[in-house]
Amino acid sequence: MAVYDDVHGWNTLPFLGAGEFYLEYGDFDVSLTVPAGFMVTATGALANPTAIRTAQERARLARAFTDPGQVVSVITRSEAIANATRPVPGTRTWRFTASGVRDFAWAAGSGLRWDASTWDGILVQTFYHPDATPWEDANAMVKFTLRHFSGALGRYPWPQVSAVEGLVEGMEYPMVIFCPSLQKREDQYWVLMHELGHQWFPMQVGSDERRYPWMDEGFNTFADYDAAEAFFKGTAYGDTVRRELLGAYAATAIPGSEQPMITKPDEVRQLYWTAYQKPALMLSILRDAVVGREEFDRAFREYVRRWKNKHPQPADFFRTMSNATGRDLDWFWRNWIYTTARLDQAVDSVRATSDTTFIYLSNRAQMVLPVTLDLRYADNTTETRTLPVEMWDLGSRFTYRLTSAKRLASATIYPRRVYPDIARDNNSWKR
Ligand SMILES: [Zn+2]
Repeated sequence: MAVYDDVHGWNTLPFLGAGEFYLEYGDFDVSLTVPAGFMVTATGALANPTAIRTAQERARLARAFTDPGQVVSVITRSEAIANATRPVPGTRTWRFTASGVRDFAWAAGSGLRWDASTWDGILVQTFYHPDATPWEDANAMVKFTLRHFSGALGRYPWPQVSAVEGLVEGMEYPMVIFCPSLQKREDQYWVLMHELGHQWFPMQVGSDERRYPWMDEGFNTFADYDAAEAFFKGTAYGDTVRRELLGAYAATAIPGSEQPMITKPDEVRQLYWTAYQKPALMLSILRDAVVGREEFDRAFREYVRRWKNKHPQPADFFRTMSNATGRDLDWFWRNWIYTTARLDQAVDSVRATSDTTFIYLSNRAQMVLPVTLDLRYADNTTETRTLPVEMWDLGSRFTYRLTSAKRLASATIYPRRVYPDIARDNNSWKR
């Protein structure tokens, strides 16, 4: 079904892959008639469980609810192997119902393992082939992430989520995600988590994926870094994973080659950068260096709340973030989304009189951001000064007057290394 919205009218652009779906919300009542030996999972809740489930399956599934700490094997490895070759004559009809979802997907097969657990009454299911052993951890991974995203973005609204192992590299539908089996634990977690994150963007916040992949892939990827940091907390991977965004920036944000984030997916050459990584870096910087964590998190959650089951355009996101933070952020979106502006903040020089030290700063490229100045004095004391972005309203040069009798030994911009500054050699002055 095509979406009719009040911006474009009928949205009839076809699925491209690079630009995905733009879908309306609806209620589904689907009956699937499949070979009797098949296991099926789908968007929605199974409406005829007594006709479908064996008594043993029902009893095992019930244990997932009575003991939420546990991951229950509803179909064990040996049972799955036996099921794969056991002939079952005839067919069975599975009926699924779902309300308020933008799509419907299903998976079916024989000889699958089935694990189940619950979080806050929500059923977490994983289906996988007996030889896909990394998936023995998948249920716990999905459950952890369901809880994490529910806290960060608002509670997961549906009764179940199914993760299905298979050939698909990673694909999301309401309540169903598809992921391959990956040997490296970090990779396995990342794909499961990423597809689960799509249950918020775009399954709940129904943005136009066909025109603006950065509003679903990008917002999701931003949330993914938080989830990965939480899941792998205290490990080298967890403590450093977000840094890869700055590495990607250095490798990809090349003048003449990089395209603005707003570029139509039909024309994008580096989709992983413009639709996934750059938006994640953008929101990390907005949160950590411009708005502040608490205020940002509240505003971002408010965006999810206001636009749930609706169709936000980019401007709706900008307005919600401005409205919820009380800040004019137009300058920020303009730089990050509509241009390929790069950042080069510099300390040009320092001059001192008896009671004032003049620190001459410049903004040598097109992007503007606030300045964090790390000051070290001759007596070895240090302090940090944060200068608001409005400093650049006066032009690309700014003189910071430091009234202190103490003698300055060094001034350094961007000590926290969260900015993608393209020329770090001009960021410091030393006496
Ligand atoms: Zn994705």
